[in-house]
Amino acid sequence: MTGKVYIVGAGPGAADLLTLRAASLLRAADVVLHDDLVPEEILALCPPSAQIVNVGKRCGRHGSSQEQINALMVWYAQEVQPQTIVRLKSGDPAVFGRLGEELDALRRAGVQFEIVPGVTAASAAAATAQITLTDRRAASALMIVTAHNIRGERLQAEGFDPRRTSFAVYMPGPDYERTARELIESGVSPATPCVLVSHAGRGSEQHCFMALGDLPFVCSVTAPAILIVGEVTRRLSQETAVFDRPLRTESTLMNEDHSPQIGCTLS
Ligand code: SAH
Repeated sequence: MTGKVYIVGAGPGAADLLTLRAASLLRAADVVLHDDLVPEEILALCPPSAQIVNVGKRCGRHGSSQEQINALMVWYAQEVQPQTIVRLKSGDPAVFGRLGEELDALRRAGVQFEIVPGVTAASAAAATAQITLTDRRAASALMIVTAHNIRGERLQAEGFDPRRTSFAVYMPGPDYERTARELIESGVSPATPCVLVSHAGRGSEQHCFMALGDLPFVCSVTAPAILIVGEVTRRLSQETAVFDRPLRTESTLMNEDHSPQIGCTLS
C-alpha cells in the first residue's frame, strides 16, 4: 500500500486564487514538494508539521532535475506513510508544468495520484488586463504556446488564421526581440496588439499594452510574465504603444541605438 500524491495547481501566486480543494489539501499536507514560482503566502497554509521541499529548478546551486523530482515523489509515496503528499505547481499543473513526465513516473511505480487544476497564468493575465481571450467577433481560437517552443519548433501559420487567433505566450522573455520575430515570421502582423502582463493575479501586476512590433523595445518587466497577442488585446483608441495604469511609461527614453525604450515599471 503506497501513499497518494496530489498534483495541485497553485494558481498564479495569490492565496485567494487557489481552489478550495487545493487549499484544503495544503492544510492537510504532510509533505509538500513545490516549484520556484509558488510564493510564501501559499506555503503558509501548510501546517507547521509539514515537510516543505523546494524542488524548483532554481533552488540551490543546480536545482533539482526532473528525474530527481520524479524519484522524490515516488519515494515519499512508497516509503513514508500514511501521509498526504502534495506536488504543488504554479498555475495549472497541465500547462507547461512537465506534468506528463511526472505522471509517467507515478504510473510506472504504481503510485496513486489525483490532479487538482489551478488558475493558469493566461487566465490570470486576461483578468488583470481586463481583456477576454476569445471573442466570437475577433478570436475563434486560443493558442497556448511557450517562447521555448516557438524557438525550437516553428509555429506554423497553416491551419489557423493568425488574425482570428489569440496567442498566450508563456515564458516570453528575456529575448523579446526573438519572440516577436518568430511570431511575425509565423504570420502574425507586427501591428497586432498585445499585452505583456507580469505578476498576474498577485496584486503587484504590471501590464504593458503595445503593438507586437514594439515588443523588442520592452524593458524592466519583472518575471514571471506572460504575453497575450491578438485582437482581444486591442483597446479603444489604441495607438502604437499604450500603457495601462498603474504603469509609469518611460517611452521617451532611448536605447543606445536610439530606438525607443518601452519600460513597464510600477508607479
Ligand atoms: N503551469 C503554469 C505555467 C508554468 S511555466 C501555469 O499554468 O500558469 C512558467 C511561466 O508561466 C512563466 O515564465 C510565465 O510566463 C507564466 N507565469 C506563471 N505565473 C505567472 C504570473 N503570476 N504572471 C504572469 N505570468 C506567469
